[in-house]
Formats: sequence, C-alpha cells, structure tokens
Amino acid sequence: MNLDHLPSLREALNENGLAAKKSFGQHFLLDLNLTRKIVRQAEPLDGACVLEVGPGPGGLTRALVESPAAHVIAIEKDARFVPLLNELSEAALGRMTLVEADALSIDEAQLTAPFGGATNTHIISNLPYNVGTPLLIKWLTGSFTPKAMTLMFQKEVAMRTAAKAGSAAYGRLSVISQALAEVKVVMQVPARAFTPPPKVESAVVHFRLLADRPPPDRIAALETVTAHAFGQRRKMLRSSLRPLGGEALCRDAEIDPDARAETIPVEGFLRLAKRIAA
Ligand code: SAM
Repeated sequence: MNLDHLPSLREALNENGLAAKKSFGQHFLLDLNLTRKIVRQAEPLDGACVLEVGPGPGGLTRALVESPAAHVIAIEKDARFVPLLNELSEAALGRMTLVEADALSIDEAQLTAPFGGATNTHIISNLPYNVGTPLLIKWLTGSFTPKAMTLMFQKEVAMRTAAKAGSAAYGRLSVISQALAEVKVVMQVPARAFTPPPKVESAVVHFRLLADRPPPDRIAALETVTAHAFGQRRKMLRSSLRPLGGEALCRDAEIDPDARAETIPVEGFLRLAKRIAA
C-alpha cells in the first residue's frame, strides 16, 4: 500500500501543533526506514491482525499499514492524535481501526474477534515506558494469548525479559517471559532515534507465545512464587518462600532450599508453581 501522499510525520506534528507529553511517555519515531525495520523483525505478518498500543503520530502505524498484515488496530489514549490518525486510517482503505482508549483496560478478544482473534494476532508496539511492563505481563499471563509480540522497551527492561539464571538482570520478568514465550532481543535502538530523545537506550524484543502453556492456576502460582522469591532476592528460598511452604515446598519441587532466586532456572520455578497449584 502506498502512503506517499501523506505529509511527513514531522510536518504532521508541526501542522497540528503537537508537542510530546512526558506524562504519556511520548517519544516518537519519525524515521520511516527505522519503523519499517522494526516491522520486518515481526515478519511473517501475511494475513495477521496487528494490535498496536500508542500509535502517537503514526510512524510505526504507517509501516504496519504498508506490511502484508490484513488489519491494524491502533489504541491511542491521547485524543490530540485522533485527527492525524483518522487521516492515516482513511488512507489505509479499511485496513486500519483507530480506538481511542487506555490500553490497560481494553478487551483485546473483542477488538480482534472480527480479524481472527488471538491466534491470528501479533502485538507490535513502541510501548510507553510507564505502562510497558504491566502490559507485557497482561499479554503473557492473561486470558488473551496473542500469537506473537514485537515490542520496544527501554533497553534495561528488554534485557531483563531475555536474561538467563545467574546473570544480574535475571528476575521475575525473565522467568514469566521465558516460561510462556520464546524470547529474543532482536534490535537495539539509540536514544537519538526518538523525538524527543529519552534518557535511556531502547531495544526491541520478539516474543513467540508457547502453544503448550501451563494451565491458568499454574500461571497464577508462577506469578506468586516469583513475586516472593525475587521480592527478597538476597535471601535463601527456604526463607523467602516461607509463606508458600518454605523448605518442604522446595524439596517437593527438587529445589535446593539454601539457593537464592537468581540461581534457579525457569524450569525450577515451573516445578515450584506446579507444586503450589496442585
Ligand atoms: N508509536 C509511536 C512512535 O513510535 O512514534 C509513539 C510511541 S510513544 C513511546 C507511546 C505512545 O503511547 C504515545 O502516543 C502515548 O500517547 C501512548 N500511550 C501512553 N499511555 C497509553 C495507554 N495507557 N494506552 C494507550 N496509549 C498510550
């Protein structure tokens, strides 16, 4: 699809008098070569339904509309961008739906139902920093399980999703991410690529959700056990997991009760969660 007739993103921002708002975590990507490169990390998208949180001026959205995805659903909380995004939606000739809403409270299943639902959905987004982690946890652990996600986070968060046991970055986000998805950091993006530049570097992470997921009660137990274990990460598990069964729980799950959370691989946490849920 050709969108060349649209004004450049910078012109669109200037013409509409739109300045970035810090409270909405707004740092824009105005280089279409870069947004197209991000979309390529998500391929194949043929026939997919793409959900994008926070289109802002629409740099990533334009690249998504150009892709072979069947439909793009863009969720934006800041009403100032609606006129500009409506123009893009018109140019997309029925392949883009704009939803003015807070992404933390949307019903993904209902929105994507006309386009094949969760199993056909790929979430692709340059996430606002302030809600990036809660949204990731919601999509990994909740009842709406997309096929895949290609998400930009601040680099430190991105590295935590993919960190392995024993490394400093390994924590609750690593365990939950890797227990429920194949996780790969696919691209690093310097702060200067954004307008305005944030204080930190960013990175794009690709998640392919596992088809063989633990049942919901075990996922809930995994959230609980990792919260206790990493909430007091310097303590031995016999102590940090005391409210959940302490030493007996560890022995049942074949985990050394004297070990610390950061040394236990994802499979160990899955065994603990299985015991708690049983
Ligand atoms: N996708 C655009 C880009 O790459 O240039 C903008 C990305 S900017 C980091 C984050 C966007 O998310 C902003 O447009 C902001 O208004 C929007 N946003 C922030 N919080 C949101 C929320 N809770 N729900 C939906 N959109 C939100």
